[in-house]
Amino acid sequence: MALANFIDRAVTSASQLLADFELQPFRESLERNVVGIAFDADASGSSEAIVTLDLTLRLVARLYPRIAILGIGASASELVGELEELARSINPDIEFVAEAEKVTVGICVGVTDAPFASPTFHVGSDGWRARLSVSGPVGSGSSGNPVGAGAAACFAAANVFRTIFASQLTHGDIDEEIDLCLLSFAPGGGTDGAGVEEIYMGRVQLVGAGAIGNAFLWTASRWTGLSGAIDVVDHEDVDLSNLQRYVLCLQEDVSQVKVDVAVARAGSPSVAIVPHRADWQGYVSDRTDWRFDRVAVALDTARDRLAVQGSLPRWIANAWTQETDLGVSRHRFGDGACLACLYMPAGKVKDRDEIVAEELGTPEARLEIRMMLHRNAAVDAAFVGRVATALGVPFEPLSAFVGQPLASFHQGAICGGLVLKLTGGAAKVKAVVPMAFQSALAGILLAAEVVKHAAGLPPVPTTSTRINLLRPLGGYLHDPKSRDATGRCICADDDFLKAYAGKYGRG
Ligand SMILES: [Zn+2]
Repeated sequence: MALANFIDRAVTSASQLLADFELQPFRESLERNVVGIAFDADASGSSEAIVTLDLTLRLVARLYPRIAILGIGASASELVGELEELARSINPDIEFVAEAEKVTVGICVGVTDAPFASPTFHVGSDGWRARLSVSGPVGSGSSGNPVGAGAAACFAAANVFRTIFASQLTHGDIDEEIDLCLLSFAPGGGTDGAGVEEIYMGRVQLVGAGAIGNAFLWTASRWTGLSGAIDVVDHEDVDLSNLQRYVLCLQEDVSQVKVDVAVARAGSPSVAIVPHRADWQGYVSDRTDWRFDRVAVALDTARDRLAVQGSLPRWIANAWTQETDLGVSRHRFGDGACLACLYMPAGKVKDRDEIVAEELGTPEARLEIRMMLHRNAAVDAAFVGRVATALGVPFEPLSAFVGQPLASFHQGAICGGLVLKLTGGAAKVKAVVPMAFQSALAGILLAAEVVKHAAGLPPVPTTSTRINLLRPLGGYLHDPKSRDATGRCICADDDFLKAYAGKYGRG
């Protein structure tokens, strides 16, 4: 039994969320706990329950080294081997515990009560509705819609984390009951639109095949009745540390091109995945048709988001993860807040060079770092030495990065958790690394917004919707965002408004 080979990345993430974080106790806690996942014949015969189980495994196996997968009854048992294989393809050293009594936190899918004596979260879904209960089974529906089922897995994984690390979380109490409709985001589960069975979404551009993009594709590829094409736009390769929260990615995907992994893992008979190994600007400049009906934005930085809005898609959905919360926003240019309104440079959102400079402990070197990132320049020994000194860590372990591009050095040393490990968890690493369940829910919400828009389902009344998975689910998730009031945004510029109207017509 062993923690996954990308656990340093999860350590970085947890160190930002947990009070009084220390490396060794954190690792021991992961090794001591056994996460149980139980399901019955009702679940193994339900399309939505299978979707919930699939994502639950993809989330849990990335963090916990000891799990118990228990099928209740003969037909459920047949699914156990398949789920174990999935878990092993994520962490080959994962340990499967056979005894239900060793489980310390449980997740249960189906209509049969859990065989665990430990705290257990019963999860299930009904189309757009995600459900969770600590008191008893909730069952799962048989629709082709994976949104409620996927969200239920995220709620389960979040509650398992909050249970294990309760003493280190502020206001991190568990959820006792969740019944959330992800169509309207109303508690109590309205199911308008549940009858929509065939949805053609046309051609959608997904910008970013990172953690949120992975979950977007996971959702789209599991949606029975959904058809269309997704242009996936991303220029990077999969790094080992990405496995911490990329739900589609398995060990064998490390070092592969992200958009190629998207094709391999997310193709479905009715949804074509078209890979574009480029950033958004590169993708746009290679096209002759600059009309984009629906663009799903799964990017990290303000600058990249501004570039997408500047190319004037007809409609944009945007997902994000922050330190504590995650969410999705919807934008039609000239009607309410545009995407650029939310990411105006004067706001608190930082550019990549500023973030990298701060995280490397060298904020004074921002301009130098901007140039290096722009030219994809390699770091020399002097630069690595400066960073080691600034962060108070020895040079030797970082010396392996000499000669590598600055982006790889930053990714490996900071985001990958090496610096944190060298300081025993004490380093003030500022990189924001969400937990897998946070990025996954953001991606599911993003896919849901695109499909709702394509199907003409009733829009949510506010620009933005926000969820904090580190606390019990709030009752009101709508987050009104107003249009930029300074007049500096491109949506206040007549030339942009005319160009938009020229592309798509008015109204
Ligand atoms: Zn604007």
